[in-house]
Amino acid sequence: MKTVKKKSGVATESRNIICEKHYVTNADVKKIREELLKWYDKNQRVLPWRDIAKDEVDNNIRGYAVMVSEVMLQQTQVATVISYFNKWIKKWPTISSLAAAELEEVNQQWAGLGYYSRARRLHEGAKIIVEKLNGNIPQTAEELEKLIPGIGAYSAAAIASIAFQKASGVVDGNVIRVLSRMRVIGVHVSKPGVKDHLWDLANKLVSEERPGDFNQALMELGAEICTPQNPHCTDCSVKDFCQAYLKVKKSTKTGKLDSYLKKNSWTRGKVKPSTEDSVPDIENAADCYFCLPDSVWEENPQVVAYPPKAEKKKSRIEKLGVVVVEKGNKLLMMRRPEKGLLAGLLEFPSVIFPEDASVKEQSSAVDQVLIEISIPIALHSSRKYIGKVVHIFSHIRTTYIIEHLAVDKSVKVSHASKELMWLSEEEFQSAAVSTAMKKVLAFVRKSESSPKKQVSSKKRKLVAEDSKQRSIKSFFNK
Ligand code: SF4
Repeated sequence: MKTVKKKSGVATESRNIICEKHYVTNADVKKIREELLKWYDKNQRVLPWRDIAKDEVDNNIRGYAVMVSEVMLQQTQVATVISYFNKWIKKWPTISSLAAAELEEVNQQWAGLGYYSRARRLHEGAKIIVEKLNGNIPQTAEELEKLIPGIGAYSAAAIASIAFQKASGVVDGNVIRVLSRMRVIGVHVSKPGVKDHLWDLANKLVSEERPGDFNQALMELGAEICTPQNPHCTDCSVKDFCQAYLKVKKSTKTGKLDSYLKKNSWTRGKVKPSTEDSVPDIENAADCYFCLPDSVWEENPQVVAYPPKAEKKKSRIEKLGVVVVEKGNKLLMMRRPEKGLLAGLLEFPSVIFPEDASVKEQSSAVDQVLIEISIPIALHSSRKYIGKVVHIFSHIRTTYIIEHLAVDKSVKVSHASKELMWLSEEEFQSAAVSTAMKKVLAFVRKSESSPKKQVSSKKRKLVAEDSKQRSIKSFFNK
């Protein structure tokens, strides 16, 4: 360890000591900018929003295209976003055309991208820009974040730098990984002070001449080269300025890596053992807030030790009853509440089951849903049990227990507080419907092609009750 810096503004004593290696020197900044931009100029992917950002002269059209792409790219892969982006821009080429659209249409266009609240917020943002800002998109990260709902610190900096060439650094998942490796930050980003430090680094590194390209280069490096599991360090344009890479070289030189490499076969992404002598001294400091503890490093002395893994959150388990009600060739859909998960989307009548609900209790809960939408009680028993489909939302693992109910034309439905509608299958496919509901319908259609597997819901309940009785009997007969 070289000199130790005191980090200003950090209240906790344990966070006061930060080694120099976690910062960037002016000389490194200059070289990193040069190398990264050189690599980006040769290797950047061709993406539709990049073409608009480069060639469009109208500030608002440029800003709008980058805003749409950035909101779509939050939590969605580039490859998926491309076709959605193209269709979106064709339908709404300007911010005012999006502001004039109905939310229903916006949700419909978004269907399949997931995290639907993003579509609603993008629409709200467009309305605010048109109604309160005369259609002019703010150009600085500060204004974008302050004035537009749903535009957080990352998106604001990305839009300001890519569309308006403002020198604001960005920090997203890819940048967190690259900077954590380049500056051997061994504390998870969720811990106090870590994100602020990464923002400071990003703001110091960003090129003043080409901020948009620099930010995209850094993110692209994370997506293509400095990947989570198998970083391609030997192909990396900034490896000479990467502390994690140099640290692995140093470990190799001192023999600390030998036993590790003997146990683990060589794969791409692991830094090739080096015989060079010119490797700087990069040791962990026991009292530095950002240094990775030696014990953790020795377990896996590789660049992928950075950033450290998050403590795994347990995902929530949910069970839902869903009834696909069909009248002729029309499907009954209900609108979800305007707030919360999948806000405003359409779904089949559904109910969340309590965790320990028996089949009988589940069936009563579904009866109650059908009563609420005025389906005559006499028809409830003719519904068919179809099967189960699992869908994983970001943090919820949901099992849909699916039933199907065919009703005749005389049946009229209504609900005290929810909007109901009948959609043809074609309308269903293009409506604002979540992927989970599409999975449910696909499952129903598949089961129709093998009808033997269908059981009446009444029979399912009886079978469940019978097997419960039998297990109670066998318990007493033991
Ligand atoms: S050298 Fe390896 S770890 Fe460092 S930035 Fe490049 S790819 Fe990432």
